[in-house]
Amino acid sequence: MSPEVITAPTPSKRTLYCPDCWHAATPTGDWVIRPSPVGEAVVCPECGHVVTVRRGTTGVTV
Ligand SMILES: [Zn+2]
Repeated sequence: MSPEVITAPTPSKRTLYCPDCWHAATPTGDWVIRPSPVGEAVVCPECGHVVTVRRGTTGVTV
């Protein structure tokens, strides 16, 4: 009998999850990157939720 654990598969790399719709992808995955004044906003491609903001990596010249 092998234990069946119902969780997301353990990511071998860092994986970002959308807290709204649980879309999952690696940081270099299919996220929509939007420049914002504080950095790059990583936006969920499915629901448009801002998952995280990568500070200091903005390509925008303010
Ligand atoms: Zn989402």
